[in-house]
Amino acid sequence: GCTTPAERGQFHHLTPWSHGGETNVANLVTLCSYHNGVNEDDPNAPPRRGRLTRKGGTIVWQPPHSSR
Ligand SMILES: [Zn+2]
Repeated sequence: GCTTPAERGQFHHLTPWSHGGETNVANLVTLCSYHNGVNEDDPNAPPRRGRLTRKGGTIVWQPPHSSR
């Protein structure tokens, strides 16, 4: 539902760099600064806002308290 144009986005690592995520097209997605900021980067942290993940070939939002 975000309306920020992609050219104003930031690159986000789906698997965080600190967790071994690589900087390549399979692991990167553009997010606006707000949604990049609220994404829960640490998959082991207690869930609060959810996080983006890749399911099949699609980037999806994984809500808190959902199984993978
Ligand atoms: Zn956004």
